Amino acid sequence: MDFLRPTTWEEALAAKADQPGAVPIQGGTDVMVEINFDVRRPPALLDLTRVAELREWSMTGGLCRVGAGVPYAAVIDELGGPLPGLAQASRTVGSPQIRNRGTVGGNLGAASPAGDSHPPLLAAGAVVEVESRDRGVRMIPAAEFYLGVKRSALEPDELIRAVHVPPATGPQYFSKVGTRNAMVIAVCSFAIALHPRERRAGTGIGSAAPTPRRALEAEELLAAELDWDAPIAPALLKRFGELCARAAAPIDDVRGTAAYRVHAIGVLARRTLTWAWNDHLEKRAA
Ligand SMILES: Cc1cc2nc3c(=O)[nH]c(=O)nc-3n(C[C@H](O)[C@H](O)[C@H](O)COP(=O)(O)OP(=O)(O)OC[C@H]3O[C@@H](n4cnc5c(N)ncnc54)[C@H](O)[C@@H]3O)c2cc1C
Repeated sequence: MDFLRPTTWEEALAAKADQPGAVPIQGGTDVMVEINFDVRRPPALLDLTRVAELREWSMTGGLCRVGAGVPYAAVIDELGGPLPGLAQASRTVGSPQIRNRGTVGGNLGAASPAGDSHPPLLAAGAVVEVESRDRGVRMIPAAEFYLGVKRSALEPDELIRAVHVPPATGPQYFSKVGTRNAMVIAVCSFAIALHPRERRAGTGIGSAAPTPRRALEAEELLAAELDWDAPIAPALLKRFGELCARAAAPIDDVRGTAAYRVHAIGVLARRTLTWAWNDHLEKRAA
């Protein structure tokens, strides 16, 4: 197995173009597990850890641009203000060791329906920046990035460079059901982001469908019926939970049954909306 070690983004793109079968490795917390368990034996590994710019984040054009190699620990320590939903989700990932190595870019690359960064990226309206040497940059909205179980819109000669996330303009919450509090892959998860200026809310469902996905009908309900100056009506909250549950399309597996996941998504949706709405009203009153 070849081990390619580019030191610049251009070298990395060239290596991927020349050897599309090379598997990128950032934190290695997914890749090394797969190699150790012989799930895959790639002809080459493309180590991205020497490409320093991937570990940086910046505020660019009103968006927070998070390099593909920014680890969860940095998201938690440095980005809790602008990206509270992503930071909350990052806190639930694995253990301190995994959060030091694992990255949002790697989560996107793996495109697992259970990846914890996906629901908050969907709820916030994030856009994934990918690039190939020969075809240049593509900006892919998160909602179009996930194509199937562990399948994404990334082409074989492309690499993920960054994810662009609008900074929060309202409360954001992420909640995850697992069999314990740490070191657990989600049974299911849910994220909400209120966008008060646009009078709408974004949603993200995790681990309850072949891909992470938004609950579009539930978002439309809130856009049409929420009174942004008043406590949320119990009937509206209930309907929101029902529509989020209906947007899920889970399977039975070792972590939980489909029926349980549908039920839990409804609960998480009502719960996170309630938390976010309370914050929203408190801020208005202050
Ligand atoms: C013990 C343990 C606990 C875990 N707990 C959780 C958890 O709670 N929640 C969760 O979501 N995940 C969890 N994971 C999975 C993993 O940590 C995450 O998916 C993490 O985000 C992967 O990031 P990484 O940088 O380590 O990716 P890597 O393993 O380096 O790569 C992951 C995938 O992305 C691709 N890739 C990496 N960088 C790029 C790039 N720049 N461009 C294109 N493709 C790229 C790789 O080729 C690979 O397919 C856990 C893993 C372990 C081992």
